[in-house]
Amino acid sequence: MTRVAITGGAGFLGSHLCERLLADGVEVVCVDNFVTGRPENVEHLLASPRFRLVNRDVTEYLHVPGPVDAVLHFASPASPVDYYRLPVETLLVGSAGTHNALGLARAKGARFLLASTSEAYGDPKVHPQPESYWGNVNPVGPRSMYDEAKRYAEALTMAYRNSRGVDTGIVRIFNTYGPRMRADDGRAIPTFISQALRGEGITVAGDGSQTRSVCYVDDLIEGIVRLLWSDLPGPVNIGNPHELSILDTARLVRRLCGSDAPITFIPRPVDDPTVRQPDITLAHQRLGWTPKVAVDDGLARTIEWFSDQSVGAGQRRAA
Ligand code: NAD
Ligand code: UDP
Repeated sequence: MTRVAITGGAGFLGSHLCERLLADGVEVVCVDNFVTGRPENVEHLLASPRFRLVNRDVTEYLHVPGPVDAVLHFASPASPVDYYRLPVETLLVGSAGTHNALGLARAKGARFLLASTSEAYGDPKVHPQPESYWGNVNPVGPRSMYDEAKRYAEALTMAYRNSRGVDTGIVRIFNTYGPRMRADDGRAIPTFISQALRGEGITVAGDGSQTRSVCYVDDLIEGIVRLLWSDLPGPVNIGNPHELSILDTARLVRRLCGSDAPITFIPRPVDDPTVRQPDITLAHQRLGWTPKVAVDDGLARTIEWFSDQSVGAGQRRAA
């Protein structure tokens, strides 16, 4: 049986990956210290004899007994609010954590997949961003703990590939949304949905003209799984090229929530990227992958999940 270890497996993306790989018949060891993830994200998987949850900080020695065919390194704070709060932890999980995860892959003869990010392109001067673009990152700016941790992690991954013979892959993930995002993680979509559902002001940063291209989680996971079982080294962009301004995203969320919440303009964070859109030619040509879920549909599914969560919380409070 195929067996994988997923660091950060109790997070938003990690939990969807655990679920998908279990459904594919894979045995999954999920390693997480719950610094930004939640045990509840994988609670429903605990009944499977092919699933194991290990509470461990991957910046410490990473030991997984038994055979491992692939190591997926997804552990890292990922939202700006989280990595501003945890700057040193973010740099350590990108450096020491990546080193340990690569060491595990090497010891087991496993394929290694690094969850990198579109933030590797910083505030891009090339649009859309192909993998060949080197980026425009401020190494000492407020986002540097995340951007540079991921750029270092990519470099370490390539060093292990070239000098230690580890079969590696790098995925550059663009903004992804869906069920199991935390309402308080500060990212635009969960924030806007929570605000719209509560009828509170929807906080748009700056004038909202900055853009992001958002991908529904199921599409992203499909692209990641295809890259995992390929022999492509990457980096490979995975994301949905459908680009939207943040103001239009806020308006769309409000409409889909059936809300009349006002839009409130707040100061724009320093070094907030102005545009972002993946060039997914490589993923399309080499993995046969393209995203399928339209933004209205993906947002509607996400809003439904958030609504169910708030109804459930209300019922728990009333009980
Ligand atoms: P998340 O915060 O929900 O998940 C990250 C998980 O890593 C959490 O469960 C957290 O507890 C765990 N973790 C962090 N540090 C750890 C440590 N030292 N030891 C063990 N576990 C640790 O974030 P996410 O959105 O699911 O992101 C997952 C990965 O994908 C991250 O590496 C992130 O950088 C990358 N990524 C995500 C997006 C996105 O849009 N969600 C975009 C680009 C890249
Ligand atoms: N943003 C916003 N209001 C919020 C949270 C975020 O307008 O309440 C903006 C943010 O400044 C950025 C965009 O939405 O321009 C996407 O932010 P997010 O944190 O979701 O992702 P990232 O900046 O990491 O791409």
